[in-house]
Amino acid sequence: MALGKSAAVVIGSFDLGESDRVVTFYSREHGKVRGVAKASRRMRSRFGGALELFTLGELVFFDTGRTDLVRVDHFDVLDPFAAIRTDLERLGQGAWIVECVNRLTAERDPHAALFGLLTRALRALASAAGPPRVAICFGARCLDVLGHRPRLDRCVECGRAYPFARPALDEGGVVCEACAAHATGATSISPAAVAALGRLRAAGWEEALTQPLGRVEAELRNALESHMTRLIGQPTRTAKFLREVRRLSETSGERR
Ligand SMILES: [Zn+2]
Repeated sequence: MALGKSAAVVIGSFDLGESDRVVTFYSREHGKVRGVAKASRRMRSRFGGALELFTLGELVFFDTGRTDLVRVDHFDVLDPFAAIRTDLERLGQGAWIVECVNRLTAERDPHAALFGLLTRALRALASAAGPPRVAICFGARCLDVLGHRPRLDRCVECGRAYPFARPALDEGGVVCEACAAHATGATSISPAAVAALGRLRAAGWEEALTQPLGRVEAELRNALESHMTRLIGQPTRTAKFLREVRRLSETSGERR
């Protein structure tokens, strides 16, 4: 039995019984932690609105050692990143970011660099930065931090040196045309998008957020979603939500 304390971000939650909630945090000191916030759905809960998705706070929990679930004692808000919840595109990309963290990490496996990346991405999303770009910069760096950095310098199947005319992206990195024909999970990616991914990885965070990408931006966003799907083993839940948001904004644009 032990008391734990760490800066943490709310990355998911679901209701439990009449008034409790199970909350998933990504913390700097302990990695992913799931805990029960007792009576948090009551009107006068001591948690107030602190347990909203994306909220960064100081988490204090009690680990009984009897189950994987801890008891959430306190969560004092440091930054609610409220602006992320004010428009659907920000909300959707933010949900994708926290879902990636949730599904690519194991419980109690801390990665301080991933925690730093997560808070940097949420801060950018809550400010003026373009939501899809924040997701791209987060996605590319998240793969690096967790040891899934795709190789871009040669075909991961046969070793042939890049560039090739029609590359594809598979779990370990780029594959050449010949190998892509046999790799069932590989998805095509344009040479321009491969080059852009390389540039974004080499750039600093602020520079990567503002670097002009032109038409390749949408392709890169899709390529990262496909890559996350390969790693997780199924599409992210938020990918569908984002497609709906986009369809909605396209139809309202036509009416204007
Ligand atoms: Zn090859």
